[in-house]
Formats: sequence, structure tokens, C-alpha cells
Amino acid sequence: MSQPATVMQSQVSRLDVEQARQTILADCSPITGHQQIAVREALHRILAEPVYSPINVPAHTNSAVDGYALCYNDPPADQQFDLIGSAWAGTPFDGRVGPGQAVRIMTGAVLPDGADSVIMQEEIERHGDRISVQGTHKPGENVRQAGEDLAAGGIALARGKRLQPADMGLLASLGTGEIKVFRRLRVAFFSTGDELRSLGEPLGKGEIYDSNRYTLLGMLRALDMDVIDLGVVKDEPQSLRQALGDASHEADAIITTGGVSVGEADYIRDIMQQLGNINFWQIAMKPGRPLAYGRANDTPLFGLPGNPVAVMVTFYQFVKPALLRLAGMDTTSAPRQFKVKSTSAFRKKPGRTEYQRAILQTDENGELTVRSFGRQGSGILRSMSEADCLVVLPKDNDGVKEGDYVEVQPFEGMMS
Ligand code: AMP
Ligand code: MG
Repeated sequence: MSQPATVMQSQVSRLDVEQARQTILADCSPITGHQQIAVREALHRILAEPVYSPINVPAHTNSAVDGYALCYNDPPADQQFDLIGSAWAGTPFDGRVGPGQAVRIMTGAVLPDGADSVIMQEEIERHGDRISVQGTHKPGENVRQAGEDLAAGGIALARGKRLQPADMGLLASLGTGEIKVFRRLRVAFFSTGDELRSLGEPLGKGEIYDSNRYTLLGMLRALDMDVIDLGVVKDEPQSLRQALGDASHEADAIITTGGVSVGEADYIRDIMQQLGNINFWQIAMKPGRPLAYGRANDTPLFGLPGNPVAVMVTFYQFVKPALLRLAGMDTTSAPRQFKVKSTSAFRKKPGRTEYQRAILQTDENGELTVRSFGRQGSGILRSMSEADCLVVLPKDNDGVKEGDYVEVQPFEGMMS
């Protein structure tokens, strides 16, 4: 079905990747719903309030090594000490260590009163109940002070932190069993396109299976978001209006794919604009040039292009940072990027940022290098499946020679 174009080329804004990202981020603020959860459910949830430490970490001054606890402030000239007992993790020595005395101590055991240092067992000689310290040492050696990691009452984890495995362990180390997190973000999505068929349906001539919904499902699940899959929506005004209306009421954010390119099913833009305030951008990037962003009934809406690779690239450059901010995360940013040596040449026209699929390798000197995946068509989803990073060629770049350094964004981290 085709209808007359109502959005003229001149009404479409042109933006750089960073401008678009910042414009979108500036428009997104966290949802308000919170919930109380157990620490074992905390992975990838986002803290809705800071966690204060109820205790000192470590709780007691203790030994960092297996060795001998003693007072090294004013040691005997011969560096010999009498062994008067032992301290184990969980079983402290309950006497006092006097001058010229030492206590055998294990890692994590409470430092006995009177001791200020622990000498590693490799640095003493033991003769029965007497030890002789080898070499010179600094008072305070190998001792972890109470509260040195975290003082009681201090902020252990800040509001807006997306919790990782270390944070779960940290919470447990404080004795904290429950935390307040933002509720999960609800994200609705649908595909547009008359050529699309869903799984289980037979393919007619010129028809293709809708893969974008499954890619989106995976990308959203990896971010621990609740998904509302609205299926394939016909390129037809009534269905589209209905789908957008429903999505805007049920979800915190909406993602559509297809139908935002200039000259393609332009009435999608009309309908999006009737429901809210949507900007249609031509971004100086490849893949992913056409992109729509705005609000449908006040719900943020991301209109991604239909090409399967463009969907993923635009999701990670724009949608993921914005969704994480909506979900409550305080600092969200572009995917992490670093420089590595390229073992391939990359062809590139100046004037747009390009995201090319590539594979990271370690060369014989142990240096990380990157090579092109080869065919870069934006419909080739296999390139995203087999590659493990994107090479980001900046806007002004006009090509890369073998041996040049390029910026890469690894999929690990990006996709989790
Ligand atoms: P569009 O942005 O709608 O012009 O689509 C660009 C290209 O992506 C076309 O070749 C579409 O057939 C393809 N495409 C659009 N949506 C999907 C989808 N959900 N799954 C797979 N391919 C799609
Ligand atoms: Mg289409």
C-alpha cells in the first residue's frame, strides 16, 4: 500500500551520532516504580536508593597473610620473638601480645591486642617456640585496618547503580539481605512491513520472516527488561494507530522497526506524529541512517530502520543507553570503545560514522588486533552473529590501511 509522502526531505533533521544520542538521553528520565527484592535476585537490577554500610568493612583489624603477628614498633635488636599462641580466622587469640612476643596468625584472623604488624611466614625462621625475623620490616605491614574498605555509615553502593556479581557479594558482606530497586522497565515492540511473516507461517513470494522482533527480544532480555511483543503490524493506518496506542499505554518505552526511511510507507510517520511528538532524523551513520525518536502519548518511542543489522547498531548506540536511563541507571553512555591495530583495510566515505563488523584477535606479540568480517551489507545478520565487535570509523575518516589503529566496540559488554 502506498500513500503520498507528507514529510518532505527538508523537514527531516540531519544529526551526528553523538548529537542524536545526547538529544535522546536528555529527554529520558527514570521511571518512578520501586520494589524490594532479595540480594539473590539482584543481578542487573538498578538500585533505587543508596545502600549504606551498617558495619565497618573489614569489621576487625586483621591479617592479610599467613604469618606472625607481633609489635614491630620497637623490636628487639636480635629480632627474636617468643611464640605465645595462634590466631585463626574465626578463632581469635584472646590474650595480649607483649614486647618480644609473637602469635602465629592466619589470613583473615583478627590482629591480637598489642600487635601492630604481621611478618609473612616466608620471612621468619622458626626454632620451636622462638622465631627470628629475617630482614627489616615496616610497622603496620600486612595488616588490614577495620573500616579500611568501607566505614560504617558510608555509602557502599550508590542509587542508580546497575548491580553486577561483585555488588551482590558486597551486599552480602555487609549483612544486607534486601534492597530497593527500580521495577523492571516494560518495553513494547513491533515490526512493520507487509512483507513480514511470523514464525510458523508459510512464506509467500517476496515475503520474509520477521527476525527483528527476535533480535529485539534477545537484546531486551539481556538488559533484564520486561518485554511486550506486539507482533507484526500491517503497513496500514488503522492497525498501526491501534498498536502504537496500546503500546503507549502498556509500556514505558516503545520500539518499532521498519517504515522510517524516506520514501517508504510514509503514513507511518503521519500516524506517529498524530499520536505524539516524533522527530525524524537522518543520522550521519551507516548502517542506521533513518531514525525516529519522540513520544507517543508521552511514552518514549524509538523508530528504528528495518534492516536487521541497522536495528542492532542503532539499538546499541541510542536505545540501550536511553532504556537504561529510563530504567533508573544514573550514568549511561555510548558503548565502551578502544583502539586496536587493524590487520585489514576498511573502505569508507567521509561524511558519516560507519560501524563495520569485525573480529578481534591476539597476534604473535600478544597485541590485540582486529580484522574485518568481510561483507558488510546491512541486511546480513550473520555478520552480527559471527563477528565479535564493531569497528567504528569516525565521520571524517576516509578509509583505513592495514596496520592503522581503529576504534572498536566489543560485543561483550555491549550485549549484556
Ligand atoms: P524498511 O526500513 O522498512 O524499509 O526495511 C528495510 C529492509 O529491512 C527491507 O529489506 C525489509 O524487508 C527488511 N526488514 C524490515 N523489517 C524487518 C524485520 N522485522 N525482519 C527482517 N527484515 C526486515
Ligand atoms: Mg518496511
